[in-house]
Amino acid sequence: LPSPALLELKNIEAMYNGIVLAVKGISLAVRQGGCTALLGGNGAGKSTTLKAISGILLAENGEVNSGEIVFGGERISGVVADRIVRRGISHVMEGRRPLSHLTVEQNLVAGGSTLKSGAEARQRIEYVYQTIPRLADLRKRTAGYLSGGEQQMMVIGRGLMSKPKLMLLDEPSLGLAPKITEDIFALLATLRSDGLSLLIVEQNTRAALKIADTAYVMETGRIVMEGSAEEIASNEDVREFYLGLD
Ligand code: ATP
Repeated sequence: LPSPALLELKNIEAMYNGIVLAVKGISLAVRQGGCTALLGGNGAGKSTTLKAISGILLAENGEVNSGEIVFGGERISGVVADRIVRRGISHVMEGRRPLSHLTVEQNLVAGGSTLKSGAEARQRIEYVYQTIPRLADLRKRTAGYLSGGEQQMMVIGRGLMSKPKLMLLDEPSLGLAPKITEDIFALLATLRSDGLSLLIVEQNTRAALKIADTAYVMETGRIVMEGSAEEIASNEDVREFYLGLD
């Protein structure tokens, strides 16, 4: 790999309720400034992997019970979610989860709760509006009434508020029309060129492989394939099972 790993998972196992082993010893990396795609079908353990990284797993009665997660050279496995946000990892969850009764701007403010001051939050909101101009137009709108694509942009904006170095995205294209999915991935490409590193979980394999440099395919808690995005995109099994080509 051309640049050093920003995030490294080393042989991670993750469990729910001390009994359901959802992730069975996986290793993966996101390089500095890179974009890694984590692919695979329903229930493969992709969301659990992201929750293990961001520490949200602990709040869902889960835990990383073996292996190591290293971010920027420091071990973060076992660190609580709030501290992981402060270290520079932002997790944009599946299903968008807008604070529906609040405005777009209030949603952004909520994403900045780890910032030091109101002044810093205001600066950061301005950065988000510059980066995602559509959100500036929507700033006073009630989040619950936005379209799916607008809500996805908003939660990405909310995720940017904490000044992340790495953003974890869980199914950003879920339920969106192809044109809107394109807009979302164009936004992600912009963020990446601004220096943000990305780890994207997607069922839209095609869209994810277009933006990623590295990809992993998961099945029932294990990584069954890994390589450069081009290698994975040209793999016969991936083409047949995930891209619908032959
Ligand atoms: P999807 O796209 O459907 O979310 P996924 O690849 O993200 O799939 P996970 O959500 O990580 O898969 O689920 C992996 C396994 O862990 C599944 O068997 C699932 O039933 C189980 N699981 C997920 N969340 C919990 C939970 N909160 N408690 C117990 N088991 C869970």
